[in-house]
Amino acid sequence: MARRVAESAAALVALRNVMQRVQQACDHAHRPASQVRVVAVSKTKPVSMIQEVYDGGHRHFGENYVQEFLEKAPQLPADIQWHFVGHLQSNKAKVLVSGVPNLYMVEGVDSLKVANHLDRAVSGVGRQPLRVLVQVNTSGEESKSGVEPAECVHLAKHVKQDCPNLLFSGLMTIGMRDYTSTPENFQTLANCRKEVCMELDIPEHECELSMGMSGDFELAIEMGSTNVRVGSTIFGAREYTSKK
Ligand SMILES: *Cc1c(COP(=O)(O)O)cnc(C)c1O
Repeated sequence: MARRVAESAAALVALRNVMQRVQQACDHAHRPASQVRVVAVSKTKPVSMIQEVYDGGHRHFGENYVQEFLEKAPQLPADIQWHFVGHLQSNKAKVLVSGVPNLYMVEGVDSLKVANHLDRAVSGVGRQPLRVLVQVNTSGEESKSGVEPAECVHLAKHVKQDCPNLLFSGLMTIGMRDYTSTPENFQTLANCRKEVCMELDIPEHECELSMGMSGDFELAIEMGSTNVRVGSTIFGAREYTSKK
């Protein structure tokens, strides 16, 4: 118990440090810090740690595993603005949307099928339209989900025009596997935004760029990110083994 409390306090200190680094990166890029949202990615971390960071005033949190998300979200305050980050299986769309009423955004729609399932799920629960980002595979690695850059317009158009319960809000990418994206990946996503905005006739500031994680969020901000997803730098390294 004492260890948990100490870990949580450490998370809050780490978050404040991340916010400072975000501010500095924004200053450096001559962008207002209000243009960059920090999503604290809390996957594998206990509810008590999330609560501590929440109590410090933070509201945007991200989860990546549906089952874990469904267990944790109801134990936490209803005004948390939850992000689902990463690949979502279409057959999980319904439980996700009904199980997390305060779901703010899904970062990682990577197929027409997922978009359609989410659209139906939102209509089924009768909530306000759900913000979604289209995930783009900018690194070309087969292991990565996301549409090819050349296909992003097609999927974005589908979300905007054919999914009345979804709100097309921009693009998301992960980048290289070691989580240190090369600038080329970020540049590719920025280029995708240009294309999408032109084809859909929307202003660029209405199309978010979700890019940047623990290892590269400052670089991402310099390259135009509006949403960084920071996990281990805030909550500590993740422990995936069942041992211990
Ligand atoms: C886990 C995860 C993150 C956070 O990664 P860190 O390197 O720990 O900051 C960001 N985005 C997605 C999609 C993730 O799954």
